Amino acid sequence: MIHNLGFPRFGAQRELKFALERYWRGELSQHELLAVGHELRLRHWQLQQDAGVALIPVGDFAYYDHMLNMSTLLGHIPARHRNEGGSYDLDCYFRMARGRAPTGTPAPACEMTKWFDTNYHYIVPELEADTTFAITDESLFNQVADAQQAGFHVKPVLVGPVTYLYLSKGEGDRLAWLDRLLPVYQQILQRLKTMGVEWVQIDEPALVMELDADWQAAYARAYEALSGQGVKLLLTTYFDDVLAHRELIEALPVEGVHIDVTRGDDQWEWLETFPQDKLLSVGGIDGRNIWKTDLNTLRGRLLKLHADRGENLWLAPSCSLLHVPLDLSLEDKLDPTIRQWMAFARQKLDELKLLHDSLKDAAVVDSEIWQTHARAVESRKTAALIHDPAVQERLKETKNLSVERQSPFAVRKQAQQAWMKLPLLPTTTIGSFPQTPEIRKARRDYRQGVLPEHDYVAAMQAEIAHVVKVQEELDIDVLVHGEPERNDMVEYFGEQLKGYTFTQHGWVQSYGSRMVKPPIIYGDVSRPAPMTVEWSKYAQSLTSRPMKGMLTGPITMLQWAFVRDDQPRSLTARQIALAIRDEVQDLEAAGIKVIQIDEPALREGLPLKKSRWAAYLDWAVHAFKLSANGVADDTQIHTHMCYAEFNDIIDAIEALDADVISIETSRSRMELLQAFVEHAYPNDIGPGVWDIHSPNVPETDEMIALLEKAIEVIPVERLWVNPDCGLKTRGWAEVKPALVNMVAAAKTLRARY
Ligand code: GLN
Ligand code: ZN
Repeated sequence: MIHNLGFPRFGAQRELKFALERYWRGELSQHELLAVGHELRLRHWQLQQDAGVALIPVGDFAYYDHMLNMSTLLGHIPARHRNEGGSYDLDCYFRMARGRAPTGTPAPACEMTKWFDTNYHYIVPELEADTTFAITDESLFNQVADAQQAGFHVKPVLVGPVTYLYLSKGEGDRLAWLDRLLPVYQQILQRLKTMGVEWVQIDEPALVMELDADWQAAYARAYEALSGQGVKLLLTTYFDDVLAHRELIEALPVEGVHIDVTRGDDQWEWLETFPQDKLLSVGGIDGRNIWKTDLNTLRGRLLKLHADRGENLWLAPSCSLLHVPLDLSLEDKLDPTIRQWMAFARQKLDELKLLHDSLKDAAVVDSEIWQTHARAVESRKTAALIHDPAVQERLKETKNLSVERQSPFAVRKQAQQAWMKLPLLPTTTIGSFPQTPEIRKARRDYRQGVLPEHDYVAAMQAEIAHVVKVQEELDIDVLVHGEPERNDMVEYFGEQLKGYTFTQHGWVQSYGSRMVKPPIIYGDVSRPAPMTVEWSKYAQSLTSRPMKGMLTGPITMLQWAFVRDDQPRSLTARQIALAIRDEVQDLEAAGIKVIQIDEPALREGLPLKKSRWAAYLDWAVHAFKLSANGVADDTQIHTHMCYAEFNDIIDAIEALDADVISIETSRSRMELLQAFVEHAYPNDIGPGVWDIHSPNVPETDEMIALLEKAIEVIPVERLWVNPDCGLKTRGWAEVKPALVNMVAAAKTLRARY
């Protein structure tokens, strides 16, 4: 049988996004918003049923986030977000997510963080000593009733209790809340039973993590309590292998288990001996990437399981299809050769159906549709578009290339200072300046062919000249050109690199109503021509101060894209690194002797299992160094990282050996600097002193106070003064006064030290 674990929520035209944003702005009534949600759910259930899905997930839909749904279902709603008198409604839900809603009193939003190793963000449940749970939000039950009424065979989806606590935040041992939580889960299951539900999908992706004994024991305890409530439980894991917990899983009193077989070590051997008294759901269609499945290989592996288990085997995507775009058939501008290799959510369900049919009837393998699919998959293995001999040659040639700088940091610093003549506490910014409506319009018009190239270049140069003049007037020490020509820090480079392509409608939810359209790396990556040199040269020609060239690093280029799955990520990273290396060297040759290579995604690339961290960091660091370190001693390499748990990667950051790193530290009041202090980070650091995610203009004194905190723990000679991140989302009305204050703060402290 075929089932599905979850489906994209937003609709082909991103209907939910626009409805949500209009509702938040007060332009749509709650009734109208709910109607959009209702219509989308019905449409998507129908679509899944038509594709052959026999058991339709319900409860995977969310107006903001499915973890948040779970919190409100459990009545786990912070007092500050409840209505006066303690009642709950949809606006409480939005206040938890965003801090505000059309009704009710604004209150600080709950934290948001990444859902495992995806780019999806969930709302973090807050556990307090007095937290209690009680069924509160009726949405799940209403949606199940709706689906049943419409005639769908449904499988409600819940986040399981252990994963729920694993992803929560609270003082001390989070498992202390388990006993309070379980009775409410029991009640939820009982209510679903009275509605006639047979199977409940209970998501426990925390099982792919390395769990200590307490957490393992919690699984036994939790599922002991949840079994026997009258519904069958499908314990669902995804995003990695669960081999470390195979005995635990086999012993849990659940009726079925779903395993993601697309990731991690091979689990097939285990599955062949998986207990027959449990239903086994195999997720062999990758829900995290956009490539067609090699159905012949997958079928070959499933044949024995199918022979052994018959109807005791279900097929599904590896995880919820939330993480892939909805429908490839909307893409009419993609190169047809590349397009034939791809499958989005709808196409993945079609693959599933085909696979399922082929297990029941071997003749399906001879059908035209199977054969066409197989030919497409086969053609990808040898296609000239993907396999570029020049890139392969380059990889060979550079195999033993040193990625170290010529001299140690102390020597480089002198060589750089000899020409840069920087004051103490030099000031700079992270790259982008405000992207005004005029800039966006010029870019759009140019793209659409309305604005001739010559006029476009003139418009961008005028903007660069403006930004340079402003920075000189502000007396900033190391300037930037402002990045007006860039829509996005990955897309801008991806569009100029061979091996990358872009969709028109390939939207994926990142958080709330925010959708992103990740680029697709389909083939060997190379750089046909310089990407930024002309802009940087122009900017440098306008000033005698040092101008920073601005690039995106190989790991971020990789991490924020759909990546080819026919070679290791490390190899793709190396190809990208070589392309960036060429750009670095061209910038240097053009007289740009300060070059920043942003790597905000280094931390998020960490594998889920700590045992795999070292291997990842090894190739990630190597890729960065390959891109950056082929320069002369007196060329200054900067890198930049946004907010992150730097502790986990501090050794890797040190190994990058960038001359300067700028980081986001102002909101944490320099707490994030601690990792650098404890590890005696040796090179220069620019801890951000202006929280650019807030519209507030920081006062000089605030920034002085932050810098004083930094000076207490890092020698003042190694500190830079800069904002937390790029300024592209801010307006000039905030940027100018904030930078005036920032420069004043630096000057005040120069006089002090
Ligand atoms: N250079 C980029 C900018 O300033 C960096 C953005 C980022 O770190 N996310 O916009
Ligand atoms: Zn940043």
